[in-house]
Amino acid sequence: MNTLHVKYLLVGGGLASSAAAETIRQHDAQGSVLLVTQENNRPYHRPALSGEYMRRERARADLTTFPPGWMKEHDVELRTGRRVSYIDTSRACATLDNGQVVSFDHLLIATGAQARPLKIAGSDLPNIYSLRTLDDADRLHHAIDTALREGHRHPRGVGRGRVAVIGGGLLATDLAASFTHLGLHVDLIVGNAFPWARWAGETKDFRHAMEKVEGMLRERDAFNPDQRKAHFVSVLAVAWPDGHVREFEGRVDGTLVWPPRGDRGFGYDPMFVPVGYEQTFGELDPELKHSISHRADAFRKLVMALKE
Ligand SMILES: Cc1cc2nc3c(=O)[nH]c(=O)nc-3n(C[C@H](O)[C@H](O)[C@H](O)COP(=O)(O)OP(=O)(O)OC[C@H]3O[C@@H](n4cnc5c(N)ncnc54)[C@H](O)[C@@H]3O)c2cc1C
Repeated sequence: MNTLHVKYLLVGGGLASSAAAETIRQHDAQGSVLLVTQENNRPYHRPALSGEYMRRERARADLTTFPPGWMKEHDVELRTGRRVSYIDTSRACATLDNGQVVSFDHLLIATGAQARPLKIAGSDLPNIYSLRTLDDADRLHHAIDTALREGHRHPRGVGRGRVAVIGGGLLATDLAASFTHLGLHVDLIVGNAFPWARWAGETKDFRHAMEKVEGMLRERDAFNPDQRKAHFVSVLAVAWPDGHVREFEGRVDGTLVWPPRGDRGFGYDPMFVPVGYEQTFGELDPELKHSISHRADAFRKLVMALKE
């Protein structure tokens, strides 16, 4: 196989390589550019994978980093499904996984990150997924369809399909929100003390966290109450010595308002107005709030079950 020579070799098909190709073309209209990615897809934006793409609100074709025709128009060559397996900097050349050698004047290594596999017993069982690539997202779409059709019934008795999301960062919480939106029952398993540690910090600065929520609602033009529905959930689990476990889920539905009101509550309480009331959880009399809260609902169900 002949050695190919390019002026710019970009290894990796993510945002970094895409931005580099665009920038190169702003400064050098002629120099040959080759972008090599091991993925089978054209370079794409990842952020939508856990959100709009996962919820099927955005099409695959809308994720690409380059508008249609841009690469051809700007004479940027793309090799998909090819891994750069060896780089010899002394000879200024790279070897692709099909044996092709590419020599270069300039090299960018933009191979990005990977999902960190969970190295624990059972992590190789079926139905365990990670999310980093478009192909991962498509595998999840397939699994979601199967879960909604054939999965276990929800603990609340509405619909089918349960998923456990492991992680407490932006991606895990975004995914958990998307799965809930799609109708799955979600258990979010978090290593930190709080799933919102990234949002509010361990010091629980909820003013900051509420501003972030409000900012995201505004970004989505969510101003009318129907677009600002929210609920608190509390689950109590009781395990009997014979291994029998029962869960009791309490829930309170409401609407998010802005600006926050009242200083009696905790967390997101000052921006949450429960259904049937006009005051926020931060304004309501604490006794009343505690009687209608998700925690009270869960405890009521637990007590009733224990009395049966
Ligand atoms: C689901 C999800 C949601 C995200 N949301 C956000 C967000 O909201 N805001 C935000 O700022 N960031 C977000 N990120 C992170 C953001 O996508 C990354 O920071 C960004 O993708 C980094 O771009 P990159 O080009 O450096 O690397 P990557 O996007 O990782 O791209 C690297 C590419 O190189 C390829 N590659 C690796 N090795 C080789 C090789 N040897 N040969 C050829 N190709 C190779 C990889 O397969 C990959 O395609 C999110 C990430 C994910 C997965």
